[in-house]
Amino acid sequence: MALRKTKILCTLGPATSEPDTIRTLLEAGASVFRLNMSHAAHDWAREITGRARTEGSALGSEVAILVDLQGPSIRTGEVEGKLSLGKGDLVEFRNADLAPEAAVSVTTNYDGLHRDVKEGDVMLVDNGELHFRVREVGEGRLLCEVLTEGQMGSRRHINLPGIRVNLPVLTEKDEADIALAAEIGADFVAISFVRDAAHVALLRDKLRALGSEAAVVAKIEDQEAVRHLPEIVRESDVVMVARGDLGIEVHLEELPIVQRTIIQECARIGRRVIVATHMLESMIEGPVPTRAEVTDVANAVFEQADAVMLSGETSVGRYPVKCVETLDRIARRMEREPGAGYFGELELNSEKEFIVRSAVVLANSLERAALVVFTARGVLARHAANLRPERASIFAFSPDPAVVRSLLLNRAVVPFQMELADDPEGDLREALERLRENGLVAPGDPVVIVSDVLLPAFDNGAILLRHA
Ligand code: PEP
Repeated sequence: MALRKTKILCTLGPATSEPDTIRTLLEAGASVFRLNMSHAAHDWAREITGRARTEGSALGSEVAILVDLQGPSIRTGEVEGKLSLGKGDLVEFRNADLAPEAAVSVTTNYDGLHRDVKEGDVMLVDNGELHFRVREVGEGRLLCEVLTEGQMGSRRHINLPGIRVNLPVLTEKDEADIALAAEIGADFVAISFVRDAAHVALLRDKLRALGSEAAVVAKIEDQEAVRHLPEIVRESDVVMVARGDLGIEVHLEELPIVQRTIIQECARIGRRVIVATHMLESMIEGPVPTRAEVTDVANAVFEQADAVMLSGETSVGRYPVKCVETLDRIARRMEREPGAGYFGELELNSEKEFIVRSAVVLANSLERAALVVFTARGVLARHAANLRPERASIFAFSPDPAVVRSLLLNRAVVPFQMELADDPEGDLREALERLRENGLVAPGDPVVIVSDVLLPAFDNGAILLRHA
């Protein structure tokens, strides 16, 4: 059976904390685990990371960890029970240190709210379920009219679609979570509500100052990020289409267009891209996905995203393993069809990149070809993956375990850790032997080899065609 190319990223949580469940997720095909810092306590994060790595080594596979920072979010304060709101009612949103001036009044955690919005703006609360129109803006308070009836509980998330907010880039909690990510050796750290490229650079600087080499994942979740997309994508290592918030911040009918635009931009610049949120939402409760969910997952695979992500489905859902199996089945089937081909537009900037493209063109022209890439820092392997080979998998050999873990997120890459000796022929023999032992190539299969470490005479890389 052909190897699956699309990678599966699972959020761990109470439903998936037990070692046996983690092991089953890995066996079902998950390769990267996400810790959502909006919910994860530090002790739990330390413990679960250790468990994931132990279960990975028991299966002989590396496991990558993605720490997803909560980021700055505007929330309402505490209310007693739930407020029942009718259309046309007036509700005051005020700074926490002010006394209420309206009959119905709630506090928020963001003192700058009255400076960012103006009369007539629309504010969405609780996952976009409650809509308000700003009627009056005062010092530290807003008076808003309810546009949709509903109930409002405590600590509800506020979205301000299309409004430029002046929230800090990283909160105090994020800073503590970044230190945790460095401590546990996270492979990826995701920044939420990134609004421009400088935010991505800031997170990278903080990680490097703490000795972490984690890749930075930019979560695109509002219109401001979409406006600055090319700069953000260029500054990031990985981009996430964070459809939960994005689906509130842009008009719903724009969401598929924005998803496609983000993937096309990643395809052009050559960055990894994850499609996230609500992929199998109905499977939080039930064992079977909706037909629409199946088609949505298939669409992300058709668009040739590097990875698809599960959130609540695996962190709190009743069928976490079944969700991974479902993604696996849909991805394998869809990958037998031609993809969208956006990655044909990839920018090539160096001789090395042209050489890798020649290798991919060669592999595309041969039946049953495999690509073997020797890659010290992962650059050649990532580049090969960005070129989206039509059929061949990319077997990447690196001496560095951190590079191996990072490549777990690249489409079509199967990474191996292998020490590279000063004997290129010997290294090549060992790599082919490992692939044959694992049933990944069969004697006589054409193997296209790309290397810039095996053949020191060719510092810019070289291609060899051999048979397994
Ligand atoms: C999202 O909004 O889609 C997302 C992935 O972020 P979070 O789940 O952290 O809100």
